Amino acid sequence: MDKEKYLTYILEETTKILSIDSPSGFTKKAASYVMQEYEKFGYKPTQTVKGGVICEIGGEGNALFMEAHMDTLGAMVCDINANGSLKLSPLGGMNPNNAETENCMIYTREGKTYSGTFQLKNASIHVNGEFNKTERTFDSMEVVLDEKVFSKEDTLKLGIMTGDVVCFDPRTRITESGYIKSRFLDDKLSVGILLGFAKYVKEEKINLPRKVYQHITVYEEVGHGGAASIPDEVTEVLSVDMGCVGEGLTCSEHQVSICAKDSRGPYDYDVVSNLIAAAKNANLDFAVDVYPYYGSDADVALVSGHDVKHGLIGSGVYASHGYERSHKDGVWNTFRLLTEYLHN
Ligand SMILES: [Zn+2]
Repeated sequence: MDKEKYLTYILEETTKILSIDSPSGFTKKAASYVMQEYEKFGYKPTQTVKGGVICEIGGEGNALFMEAHMDTLGAMVCDINANGSLKLSPLGGMNPNNAETENCMIYTREGKTYSGTFQLKNASIHVNGEFNKTERTFDSMEVVLDEKVFSKEDTLKLGIMTGDVVCFDPRTRITESGYIKSRFLDDKLSVGILLGFAKYVKEEKINLPRKVYQHITVYEEVGHGGAASIPDEVTEVLSVDMGCVGEGLTCSEHQVSICAKDSRGPYDYDVVSNLIAAAKNANLDFAVDVYPYYGSDADVALVSGHDVKHGLIGSGVYASHGYERSHKDGVWNTFRLLTEYLHN
């Protein structure tokens, strides 16, 4: 297998998708990009009513549904302050501490875009004696627009209103040493990996041992990404989502994480065992962990009433829901686990 070719493709795709703002509820552009990418390979993807992308990539029988989500954290304007700045309400688990001083874009319903910065109110440390003591919340913080506005009226005149979507700069960087740093690697890194797998199956003419669908979901960050659109013939749902890295867990950014249990409960015993066996068989650098605060699209498939087995794997991602970090090694181990798990 040409490692350089597939790893390069995955990282290029990840970078492109990261550059398309797509918080939950604002994913149309990302979806059309993903559709085009599948079509380039000669696949026939379809769009779900709520905006996800489903693509059958080959094989027959005992269908596996592979999922990664293209929606990310973000925010929505919920009020315009008297000084013309914006009050935000989070989309998904966007944490105000993690977004402080980040640049952002505001997309109005009329198609205009404006830039701004998410700051603590009264953010000059030479003026605000309480700067260090103030808790960062969506009430204590605001978006300062890069426009000459001094009042609520000034901002309204720009066409900005409650309900406008706010997207934070992903600040994507890939270092010489192989680290991938960006917001929203959760889960655009896995979207890149799934596209890489689709490319691999097509270009290497892989004979899959079972039918495989890929579902690039939306609304995962708000809890119902994987709830619908699972074909009746599917017997297994495999989420490819960020692997947890942190104290008490064994995974690093260099490994593929196999999740045995998350906060909703255990993953299917056989699926987890088979993933571990596949990782061992291919001599992959992997970790098995229990995630303390986590839920996935695969969990949601079961919660929504589908009778399927479920699993979860992903490249190790540190500082999740903040300025996240992974590594090329973790990406490669994840890609290889997919190819090993689905080889004839
Ligand atoms: Zn995720």
